[in-house]
Amino acid sequence: MSKNTKGAESVKVVVRCRPMNEKETRDGHERIVDMTVKKGLIEVRNPKHSAEAPKSFTFDAVYDWNSKQQDLYEETVHDLVECVLEGFNGTIFAYGQTGTGKTFTMQGVKTSPELMGVIPRSFDHVFNHISRSENQQYLVRASYLEIYQEDIRDLLSKDQSKRLELKERPDTGVYVKDLSSFVTKSVREIEHVMNVGNQNRSVGATNMNEHSSRSHAIFIITVECSEVGADGENHIRVGKLNMVDLAGSERQAKTGATGDRLKEATKINLSLSALSNVISALVDAKTTHIPYRDSKLTRLLQDSLGGNSKTTMVANIGPASYNFDETLTTLRYANRAK
Ligand code: ADP
Ligand code: MG
Repeated sequence: MSKNTKGAESVKVVVRCRPMNEKETRDGHERIVDMTVKKGLIEVRNPKHSAEAPKSFTFDAVYDWNSKQQDLYEETVHDLVECVLEGFNGTIFAYGQTGTGKTFTMQGVKTSPELMGVIPRSFDHVFNHISRSENQQYLVRASYLEIYQEDIRDLLSKDQSKRLELKERPDTGVYVKDLSSFVTKSVREIEHVMNVGNQNRSVGATNMNEHSSRSHAIFIITVECSEVGADGENHIRVGKLNMVDLAGSERQAKTGATGDRLKEATKINLSLSALSNVISALVDAKTTHIPYRDSKLTRLLQDSLGGNSKTTMVANIGPASYNFDETLTTLRYANRAK
C-alpha cells in the first residue's frame, strides 16, 4: 500500500448519543453527556465524582439525542457513497455498547421514512444516482453476511448452517468463497435482499438481541459502472460499500461470562481490538505494517480499509450515568481511530 494515501481524510470518526429511553426517564436517571454540536465536542461527567472536571473529546462530528437520521446521512455518509459510485471502496461501522443505537443508525425504523437508517438511505442514494446517469451502464450487486465467533455465515444463502471460508488470490485479494451476491435493479429489489438477510439473521438465534449483540453483520453493495471513454474504449470501474453493524463492545467480564460464553466474548473483543489496531495503524503515518490478518473482520475488509478507501466510524453511546464506564471506553476506542 502506498504511503501517501494514508491520513486522517480517509478515516472519519463521529459520535452519536441516543436519547434517554422511557425506562431511564421514568427511573429519573441523570444525563452525564453534554455535546457542543458545532465544535464536535463531547463532555462526559463522572457521576461518582461531581467535582472532577468532565472528560472531553472532539471528533469529526457529534450527533446528540435530537439529531436526525437524514442529517447524519448527509453530513457523514453521503460523500463516502459518492466515492463508491466513482469506483472506490468504502466502509461504515456502527460501534458501541449494546442498546446504544447501532442498529438504529444502520437500519433505522422500517415503518417510518424519517427514521430510515444508513443502509436503506444508501439504496435510495445509489439508485437515484443511476437513474440520473446518461452515458454509464451500472450493475449493482448485494451480499449480506455475518461473523459470529469468527465463523462466517451467508445471510442470503438457503443453507444457513453452512460456514464460509476466507480465501486469498494474488490478483483479486481476499474474498469469501461461495458468498452469494444478487444483482438488484431497484430500491425495492435491494430492500428485499436486505429483508431476507435480516430474517435469516434471527434464524437459529434463541434470543435475537443476544445474538445480534455478539455478531457482526456486514451488508455489501458492489457498484460496477461501465462507460465509453474519450478514447472510444469501454472502461469499467468497481466500487464496494461495506456497512457494518458491529457486535456490542461491552466488556464481557462484567456480565460474569464463563465457559463457552467467555470464549465467545474473547473472540468478540479480539475482532474489535483487531479493528482498532488496523484503523489506528492506518491513521498513524509512521506505521507501515497494518495488522489485517488478526481477525476475520479485518481480513475480509482489507481491500476496503486503507489505500484509496474511505472509512467512517459511528461510535454510539447512551446518555445515562449508569453507562459511564462503557461510554468512556467507547469514546477512548473512537478516539484511537481518529
Ligand atoms: P444496538 O443495536 O446498539 O444494540 P439499538 O439500535 O437496537 O441498539 O437501539 C436500542 C433502542 O434505542 C432501540 O429501541 C432504538 O430504537 C432506540 N434508539 C437508539 N438510538 C436512537 C436515537 N438516536 N433516537 C431514538 N431512538 C433510538
Ligand atoms: Mg443491534
